[in-house]
Amino acid sequence: MTPLHAWQEADGRLHAISLADYPLPPRPDEDINTLCGQRLTLTRADFRVFPEYQPHKTTCWSCDGEWRRLEGLPPHPALAGHTS
Ligand SMILES: [Zn+2]
Repeated sequence: MTPLHAWQEADGRLHAISLADYPLPPRPDEDINTLCGQRLTLTRADFRVFPEYQPHKTTCWSCDGEWRRLEGLPPHPALAGHTS
């Protein structure tokens, strides 16, 4: 199955974007709309290929949840059970 979404580092977190909106990987200085509804501007710190890269990213769980809802996947194991 073709993936519908991709992870993109932005604003110090690991957000998800729609591959329908971004068939090509975004670039620095590009604005992206994340699955959690934010509009973020990418910087060189968000890309591993640049020396400015900052490997401090934590997963955006709002994006993770939205990704799973859109693709019909079960909740993340780390989050399962928190709703009961
Ligand atoms: Zn997000």
